[in-house]
Amino acid sequence: MKQIVVISGKGGTGKTILTASFAALAKNKVMADCDVDAADLHLLLAPDVKERHPFKSGKTAVINNDICTACGKCRELCRFEAISKDYIVDPIACEGCAFCSYICPGSAIKMEENTTGEWFVSDTRFGLMVHAKLGIAEENSGKLVSLVRNKAREIAEEKGLDWVIIDGSPGIGCPVIASISGADYALVVTEPTMSGLHDADRVIQVSKHFKVPVKLVINKYDLNLDMSLQIERYCSENDVELSGKIGFDKNVVKAMVEGKTVIEYTDGKTTDQIKKIWEKLNRAFV
Ligand code: SF4
Ligand code: SF4
Repeated sequence: MKQIVVISGKGGTGKTILTASFAALAKNKVMADCDVDAADLHLLLAPDVKERHPFKSGKTAVINNDICTACGKCRELCRFEAISKDYIVDPIACEGCAFCSYICPGSAIKMEENTTGEWFVSDTRFGLMVHAKLGIAEENSGKLVSLVRNKAREIAEEKGLDWVIIDGSPGIGCPVIASISGADYALVVTEPTMSGLHDADRVIQVSKHFKVPVKLVINKYDLNLDMSLQIERYCSENDVELSGKIGFDKNVVKAMVEGKTVIEYTDGKTTDQIKKIWEKLNRAFV
């Protein structure tokens, strides 16, 4: 089983479009959408949800007012001022430290798990996909990303699949670390701008730090040929393989509007360029 994660230093570089194209090209695969903060692979793969599970993360204090003697200790000592004068916990202010539950003389406080999102296993026209939705303003997406990745890997093992194709989280924080850990390759997608190079460099350093081999794709390379050359030079100076370049193509947007991958939409040059990148990735495993 081979695991490829497509990442980018920031959102909006074409990461999901490339992941969906690989989903269309790969045989015997499962997809994982690890961009749980702004999941959008489902827009192109139109999943039919088969399994739905709550995602629990963190705890909140809950006071049983039938037992509470209103001694005031918890309210006095909660440093987050999360307990009202009626001894009701404000779930937004509560940091889940559990201190109040230890000091309550009447054992009136219990810590209850928070449901902060959902994760799904779905059918798509390209095979199974594991994906998730984090609640608004909820944190701990790194834990949810790990869950999605692990579930996709389990499915691949159970069904004897060849590939786990992962749409990684953008940026360089905890979620991206969770999405690249243990992958065979991280494929960084960037655009030919100075900030694109800067963001790609940051995520490449993160991948190298966690010993995940990195390759790079320049998307819309022909919008700034000088900058594309600069990125190519960066690759050779930093021992990063350039897997390929994709030109700007209005068909990519037209395909998205129809809810298709560009591979399904056209046989044009972008499809050729993506196929070449995919074949090159395949050869890396031979
Ligand atoms: S410490 Fe326990 S008994 Fe005292 S006010 Fe808080 S919940 Fe009630
Ligand atoms: S768990 Fe911590 S933050 Fe939440 S109410 Fe108790 S003491 Fe305050």
